[in-house]
Amino acid sequence: MNGPICFEDAKTNRLCRICEAKLKANIINENDVAIWKEIVKLGEKSFLDLDFLNSFELNGMLVIVCRGNIGALIGRQGKNIRDLEQKLGKKIRIVEKTGDAKETAQALLGFVKIAAVNRVFRPDSEELKIIISRNDERRLKEKEALEKILSKILGSKTTVEFQ
Ligand SMILES: [Zn+2]
Repeated sequence: MNGPICFEDAKTNRLCRICEAKLKANIINENDVAIWKEIVKLGEKSFLDLDFLNSFELNGMLVIVCRGNIGALIGRQGKNIRDLEQKLGKKIRIVEKTGDAKETAQALLGFVKIAAVNRVFRPDSEELKIIISRNDERRLKEKEALEKILSKILGSKTTVEFQ
């Protein structure tokens, strides 16, 4: 398991100089640290095989992006997530980063269904367009915040369009 701070720090509740510097430089944030501490605790009770990539706040919800076996993190019928929500005091959504942009984005969007993901080739980069039915437009709040998060998770500039 890999996360924003080292295992030792997560267990002792203190940050070493390297992790402290990462926090000060905003490479990681307080949410990342708090989430990771809870994941490490959970990993002591059950077998977890995943990497924590990053976290974002969206609509008052905490989005946790992981790679690996997220089923064990979610727990039976979402039990671990409910525990985590209680400890962190926020709604949580786990997003599994896979090689499939549509699958990854869909995990972030939840009930709003993605119709297609189009790749737009620019001379020096690739952009992603996420197509969502116009019927779902009002269900999708904070479009700009969502685009920013999607761009970071997917690693390419991403926009959301309704058709
Ligand atoms: Zn450390």
